[in-house]
Amino acid sequence: MFFFDPLYFLLALPGLALTLWAQWRVNSTYNKYSRVRNGRGITGVEAADLLIRQNGLQGRVNVQGTPGKLSDHYDPRNRTLFLSPEVARGASVAALGITAHELGHAMQHAQNYGPLNLRMAIVPIVNLGSWLGYIVFFLGFCLATQAGGNPAIMWLGILLLSGAALFALITLPVEFDASNRAIKMLEASGLMVPQEVQGARSVLGAAAWTYVAAAASTLLNLLYYVMLANRVSRD
Ligand SMILES: [Zn+2]
Repeated sequence: MFFFDPLYFLLALPGLALTLWAQWRVNSTYNKYSRVRNGRGITGVEAADLLIRQNGLQGRVNVQGTPGKLSDHYDPRNRTLFLSPEVARGASVAALGITAHELGHAMQHAQNYGPLNLRMAIVPIVNLGSWLGYIVFFLGFCLATQAGGNPAIMWLGILLLSGAALFALITLPVEFDASNRAIKMLEASGLMVPQEVQGARSVLGAAAWTYVAAAASTLLNLLYYVMLANRVSRD
């Protein structure tokens, strides 16, 4: 049974450890800077309005609330910035950093930023492949391990699974770029003093590690299936 393969745990553990560390780091950094009030006493929603005007995004992005903590995101399908209650109504350094980051995505969308378009384009394939890939792989694994078996179906499963890895990799430049845009926007906005911008940078830097952890986990997962397929193909 390959479900109890020690190799699987050996490959999954570093990804899991990195994910837990990144999650802890983003939570602790966010908790720290969500308690630091920005000098202007401006909330996420107010900052969004101002940054939208300053960056010529009027009419190209809507702002809405969404429940939860750190649930802030930009949805390109309806060009909407969704802000969590703490960010929308909070006048913290963290709230401004996160608002500007999500607006960075809106700006990417408005400017046809290539990696964002690519990520949007592959979403349906990735969604299909991330569950179908395991089924096809398992089927292919059973076929390949039979006498005179053919490993082709198993490799097709891996091809389907690799969509998720591609998605996680493309996410990295998209997220780093959104944070770079956010810092530039905040610096140019006059909303924050340099020390506050530094705080926002820390929050966004911590968030970036969660995407690095996700990419590493996804790649290690894919690597496991590639190694397994290689082993079976050689037998
Ligand atoms: Zn983002």
